[in-house]
Amino acid sequence: MTKYAFFQGRIVPIEQAKVSIMTHTFNYGTGAFAGIRGYWNAEQEQLYVFRILDHYRRFLNSGKFLLAQVDYTPEQLAEVTVELLAKEGWQQDCYIRPLLYKADEVIGVRLHNLRDEVAIFSLPFGKYIQDEEGAKVCTSSWRRVDDTAIPARGKLIGSYINSALIKSEAMLNGFDEAIVLNQDGHVAEGSAENLFMVRNGVLITTPVHSNILEGITRRTIMQLAREELDIPVVVRTIDRSELYVADEAFFCGTGVQIVAIASVDHRPVGTGRMGPITQRIRDLYFRIVRGQEPKFMDWLTPIPKLAAVS
Ligand code: PMP
Repeated sequence: MTKYAFFQGRIVPIEQAKVSIMTHTFNYGTGAFAGIRGYWNAEQEQLYVFRILDHYRRFLNSGKFLLAQVDYTPEQLAEVTVELLAKEGWQQDCYIRPLLYKADEVIGVRLHNLRDEVAIFSLPFGKYIQDEEGAKVCTSSWRRVDDTAIPARGKLIGSYINSALIKSEAMLNGFDEAIVLNQDGHVAEGSAENLFMVRNGVLITTPVHSNILEGITRRTIMQLAREELDIPVVVRTIDRSELYVADEAFFCGTGVQIVAIASVDHRPVGTGRMGPITQRIRDLYFRIVRGQEPKFMDWLTPIPKLAAVS
């Protein structure tokens, strides 16, 4: 059970981290958020947080779309998070949820002349999609929110209605997840994850102008494929029908981690089982996030044991 939150500038018991129903963001969705994972390494008895500064940089960038005025730097938010997690003392994998919200209790849709607040909480977290080695996926009947409507490169609270429509439709129709297309019919991403496919040994993902969230896991995988695994990476527009004939496909994201796609719209992807390239990337990714690859320790922030912090 979560015991603490960062709220109104300090760490407080979670019961005290409450906002009024009149809060602007609660009424209009005018906020931003982040999702960061902490990984417990049982052998080392150590919790590691993955790419925390990259997450906070994107978090503050999301605030720019909202004309948010907050004084925190990514480094300060990382520091607060370390303190929060040290107090919380998770000895298991966890998820960290920073929120940036318009705290004024007023009626009136706008972004300017409103007070912005940052809050952070964490909770234990396991799998996001149950079948990580063979997700059944459909193409959504919804379209991805367009940059000309709500920028998908911001992690903006209101725009997750789009993700929720996509996810619930997929699950209620018996799928694990959906791929969503842009207005022009090309592939964007999943409801809350980026997408890769493999064709003829080449790893392919959609470009940042395809209405995607510029994922930190996506960036991680592109770097690992190119620099560590010798797998060529191409960033280009993807057609829906290419997924039907791809050799492999997978979702990636902080929450979903790396999930192999077994089928798209009832067509098996490749053999219908996790392919060798997905497997290699996944194995390396999980070793890195759990602190088992010395070369990549820079991406990890160790959380000190409470005795070590005053
Ligand atoms: N796309 C969307 C819509 C998401 O919500 C997420 C999860 N944050 C991602 C992609 C993956 O981003 P990241 O790897 O930074 O978690």
